[in-house]
Amino acid sequence: MSELRWHPFLEQWVITATHRQDRTFLPPADYCPLCPTRPGGFPTEVPEPTYDIVVFENKFPSLQAAPPEPAVAATSLSPVEPAKGVCEVVVYSPRHEDALASMPLERIQHLARVWKDRYLELGARDFVRYVFIFENRGEAVGVTLHHPHGQIYAFPFIPPLIEKELAATRRFHAENGRCLMCASLAEEIRDGRRIVLEGERFVAWVPFHARWPYEVTLASRAHQISMEEWNAADMEDLAAVLKGLLQKYDALFAKPFPYIMVVHQAPTDGEDHRHAHLHFDFYTPQRAPDRLKFLAGVESGAGNFINDKLAEESAAELRRVGPASVAAVRAADEAGRERAPAGIGSGTGHDPAAPRAASSMADVLRTLFGPGSTAVTAFAPGRVNLIGEHTDYNEGFVLPMAIEDGIEMAARSRAGREIRAHAVDLGETVAFSLEQPIRPDPTHPWSNYVRGVLWALGRAGVALGGMDLAFGGTLPRGAGLSSSAALQVATALAAR
Ligand SMILES: [Zn+2]
Ligand SMILES: [Zn+2]
Ligand SMILES: [Zn+2]
Repeated sequence: MSELRWHPFLEQWVITATHRQDRTFLPPADYCPLCPTRPGGFPTEVPEPTYDIVVFENKFPSLQAAPPEPAVAATSLSPVEPAKGVCEVVVYSPRHEDALASMPLERIQHLARVWKDRYLELGARDFVRYVFIFENRGEAVGVTLHHPHGQIYAFPFIPPLIEKELAATRRFHAENGRCLMCASLAEEIRDGRRIVLEGERFVAWVPFHARWPYEVTLASRAHQISMEEWNAADMEDLAAVLKGLLQKYDALFAKPFPYIMVVHQAPTDGEDHRHAHLHFDFYTPQRAPDRLKFLAGVESGAGNFINDKLAEESAAELRRVGPASVAAVRAADEAGRERAPAGIGSGTGHDPAAPRAASSMADVLRTLFGPGSTAVTAFAPGRVNLIGEHTDYNEGFVLPMAIEDGIEMAARSRAGREIRAHAVDLGETVAFSLEQPIRPDPTHPWSNYVRGVLWALGRAGVALGGMDLAFGGTLPRGAGLSSSAALQVATALAAR
């Protein structure tokens, strides 16, 4: 059941949507409806063994092309309309563990083409007045489905917040003869304090008037009213700025960052919207590593946001972490592409018996923790699964193989019972004592692989002493190359 109920005090529609989930077959516990359907496996929403990017209609839509008649009768005070519209799901990747921040730039460019295509196709339907493209990411914003995906709502009206923004830009344009977003971006670039990342064509910044902590606006330098104007070079640059920004978000608290990403652009109602300027807005409730912002009394009841982060500070924090520039994002992407074919099937794997080159990680130990006992180094390769994704824990066939890239770790013993570990790629150090029970550290998730191995060795009766550890490597994290397993193996080897 879904219908539009008019809110006469706020003069806006409320979408009422209640859906019962009628499933004939109970899916397995780890079932993901957005994963490809494996041969012989439980059918998902995508009946293909693999795919690139998939768009399909939401199974439980708030808006429908052929909506049911409203369940209640309207009165003059309380108008009710059928909830006509379209709700689509955009699945970014066949890989369950993927994320926009770790995808190759080419895939993100492809996604931009898909967005543009959906904007044009849905916008051309006569009842669609606004195509709203967005993504909710993370449990903090209510996401239970972790497979990387976004959504599209094709509205039969212009949603109220967007209408308000459009009214302001229309007024500014009429009074000043120029675009409010163009003027605002020019001022931000002149000022510089709130800029986060600059591409040739797109810029990401924390707006002066940010309502949310770490709120970011991403817009084109050129005045573009909608995705219709995007060309290949636009989408290439957009992909790099978008990926760089999301990498910064993830690096901020060293964990996947929850966010809401929305696209604001020209409505598709046939009116003149030359004053509109396409932009992405990013909102996040994450205001500190372990604290969320909630929309409480003043926000929900008065409509005013209280932001306890200064925009200038948020921007400075975001500039400090993750890729330093869009060029760095491109270079990392380039390196990833060159490594992949060389590592797979080139037949020049490491001979485990061969001595490894002098360890740069041992140098890191000396620089970071000062002189100490001689360090030993351990190397654990990453792996690709030629066959085995999701079949490995279902007792199916697997065919993994090691690749040249991996994690290198240097370790040395030290007096006492303290463990100090440094992640070179993240620039983070943790310290903990073997005197206390080893507990997970939610603020440095990478360190839990080290902690877990030492905990298990301790339980198995291995005598452990104080250690300094430093590790780094060429494996991208979260890319399905088992960087975490390599870190665990390297830790176990080093502890030996
Ligand atoms: Zn999945
Ligand atoms: Zn503009
Ligand atoms: Zn906006």
